[in-house]
Amino acid sequence: MKRRDLVKVAGLTAAAGILSACGKEEKEEKVQSSEQSKVIEWKMVTTWPKNFPGLGTGANQLAEMINKMSNGRIQVKVYGAGELVGPLEIFDAVSRGTAEMGHGAAYYWKGKSTAAQFFAAVPFGLTAQEMNAWLYHGGGMELWEEVYDKFGLVPGAAGNTGVQMGGWFNKEINSVEDLKGLKMRIPGLGGEVLKRAGGTPVLLPGGEIFPSLQSGAIDATEWVGPYNDMAFGLHKAAKYYYYPGWHEPGTTLECFINKEAFMALPEDLQIIVRNALRVANQDMLAEFMTKNNQALDQLVNQHGVELRNFPEDVMRKLREISDEVVAEEAQKDEMTKKVYDSFIKFRDQVQKWTAVSEQAYINGRSLS
Ligand code: CA
Repeated sequence: MKRRDLVKVAGLTAAAGILSACGKEEKEEKVQSSEQSKVIEWKMVTTWPKNFPGLGTGANQLAEMINKMSNGRIQVKVYGAGELVGPLEIFDAVSRGTAEMGHGAAYYWKGKSTAAQFFAAVPFGLTAQEMNAWLYHGGGMELWEEVYDKFGLVPGAAGNTGVQMGGWFNKEINSVEDLKGLKMRIPGLGGEVLKRAGGTPVLLPGGEIFPSLQSGAIDATEWVGPYNDMAFGLHKAAKYYYYPGWHEPGTTLECFINKEAFMALPEDLQIIVRNALRVANQDMLAEFMTKNNQALDQLVNQHGVELRNFPEDVMRKLREISDEVVAEEAQKDEMTKKVYDSFIKFRDQVQKWTAVSEQAYINGRSLS
């Protein structure tokens, strides 16, 4: 090859190299800049102490799942109670856009919407399995969306505790009379029932329960179940642990999203967020089911907690009062009536099936 040809080839190769490098860099830069501009940073405020077992960690897992499922396009930072706003201020904070997501329970917002309580727990209402059936296939979710819409929020179920415990007491509850004068931390409709039975319901965020019970500011409390209650050390401040949680038979935890922020997401990210919520809803229930039975064993066998079943007569009377309270609550406004009608119709139908399926099976299994 002549020298002139060599120069020519080298020149062409070099030129081609430069051209291809330019093209590649340009393309990479474009992809990078469009991806960077698409990173959406969201804040999630919660009513739970940071990293609290089951509830706080459930919020963390949901945030992590959204980050991963969206391949980093949505990055959610979780704030524990009080870090950005107070535990019971999250509803307003997300409504006004201070944060994009809130993780709590709908009965905390009964002062804003009476109907909201039905999406967390109703005394003698639905179990976790029945609640999910109502929400996803029984019209519940559509009603929840309607209720939260006027606050500029998109709601979603983001966990379930399963049947909760009846609560911690320092005296035995042998009749409904024993509830008279009792100052008990119990939120939502359950609190209204206690009031009707002669007690004084108190609404306290989780973090304030133990000190209040220990100091005697409250006489009794419910919280969640063995796993969470033990984490708060409630067994160190009360002697008797009553079951079942008639007031919270399958409490749904929620994650609501600022509607404007949600609607601004491209459709695929909206679907990712909605499906991450579904996974979180299922996973929390599985975690509670596993950890509650381990914690109950520890409470009874290591900490000497006295486990007590509410007497049948107490349950019967609480059921009567609950039905009255819930029906009266439904009359407060049109929206609450609409939600109540749907919920009660669903419960009355589904309990016939539950009676011949879960209930009959569990009764049979317990015989041996
Ligand atoms: Ca509770």
